[in-house]
Amino acid sequence: MSDKDCLFCKIITGEIPSEKVYEDDTTYAFKDINPKAKVHVLVVPREHYANVAELAAADPQQLAHMAQVAQNIADKEFHGAFRLIFNTGIDAGQTVFHVHAHVLTGEKLDE
Ligand code: AMP
Ligand code: ZN
Repeated sequence: MSDKDCLFCKIITGEIPSEKVYEDDTTYAFKDINPKAKVHVLVVPREHYANVAELAAADPQQLAHMAQVAQNIADKEFHGAFRLIFNTGIDAGQTVFHVHAHVLTGEKLDE
């Protein structure tokens, strides 16, 4: 199911362009437009869920797969180290309500 007004649903279908990093049957990964690290990739499920808690409840395997995709990106871009962030809720900084993992890697990150 996708949401016709959702920015990331539109990125997944290609209606809005993005810089693809990885894709498979269930998952799409693309460069964040406003990178906060040398490598800043967003990993999203093709299916629309509002946040990580909804995804975890509905499809835990998909969530686990996204962690593996993040690891693979970090293996390729750095030596396997990465930071994985899911902002959840407006007051935590979530601005797009299609669950997305921020993968920060490519350099040593500040604490
Ligand atoms: P969040 O604030 O956790 O919801 O993250 C949303 C992220 O989406 C931010 O880091 C934005 O920079 C990023 N973003 C917004 N629009 C685009 C876009 N068109 N292409 C790539 N990244 C985007
Ligand atoms: Zn969506």
